Amino acid sequence: MAAQLSPVFIYSERYTFVLPPGYGNVHLFDGEKFQRALAVLEERGVSLQGRVIEPVEVTREQLELVHESGYLDSLTSPAVIANILEVEALAQAPFETLDELALTPMRLASGGTIQAVRAAFDSGVAVNLSGGYHHAKRSKGEGFCVYSDIAVAIEVAREERRLERVMVVDLDVHQGNGVEAIYQGDPGVEVFDMYNFQIYPMGDADARGGIRWDHPLPGGIDGPEYVERLRAHLPAAVEEFQPELIFYNAGTDIFAGDPLGDLQVDEAHVLERDRFVIEAAVSRGIPVAMVPSGGYTDDSHRLLANALEHIAGLA
Ligand SMILES: [Zn+2]
Repeated sequence: MAAQLSPVFIYSERYTFVLPPGYGNVHLFDGEKFQRALAVLEERGVSLQGRVIEPVEVTREQLELVHESGYLDSLTSPAVIANILEVEALAQAPFETLDELALTPMRLASGGTIQAVRAAFDSGVAVNLSGGYHHAKRSKGEGFCVYSDIAVAIEVAREERRLERVMVVDLDVHQGNGVEAIYQGDPGVEVFDMYNFQIYPMGDADARGGIRWDHPLPGGIDGPEYVERLRAHLPAAVEEFQPELIFYNAGTDIFAGDPLGDLQVDEAHVLERDRFVIEAAVSRGIPVAMVPSGGYTDDSHRLLANALEHIAGLA
């Protein structure tokens, strides 16, 4: 554990993904949110200079720590990719285009998540500005998630550090069914998940069995109630499990007005949530790696910037 906090950020200009005109928009996701978040920090006079690490693309070998090779091979098919990204028109796009514009940024982000975990052990807190693909399973991508960057990073860390207890705190509004399916029955990785149970992937009962601390929320919950529930349950879970690493999947799709989330959490309470999770780790001397995951409004980048500004200020 680092004696002193010095938060680290993993980022590349090549995280951006924007598909060419004619193939439709990639979901409702802002593929430029990473650089837009940094632009907000710049406007606010917050400098990350000297604290940003350039990611290295995840390798096939690392991906195979989690994913079946047959699934990875199937990702040369535009139809398979289009299905995962939920943009039907992409099935007509050349594979090379999809690989360059969508899959490569995701592999780079997955490499960034691996580096975020490494950096968290050295610096206490590390944030990858992309990643958090919590719906991808071992042999199947879904919900816009191709690679399970969280699981791959956990497996790399387990190899490198022989970790016995990793806790995934998944506060994206969607149930983290991919990570849960991957780690079901594995006592070394436990999931705390607070999610809207009335939206996708509603009904993934198998994956739900992989949640150790299961906090389904009905739609419409507001900021104060959301944070109150988190305060009521997260510390006890951390105390009980005593993880050696906390993985924070910090989707901002809990935000009021998010077209996919259906919760009513205001901006101040999204930040309050992020602060609380980081503090829950830092105050106990537990390294924490954060990834931004989902968020589907034009405010997503600013919500991420708010968290980054707070974390940058912890140094
Ligand atoms: Zn989500």
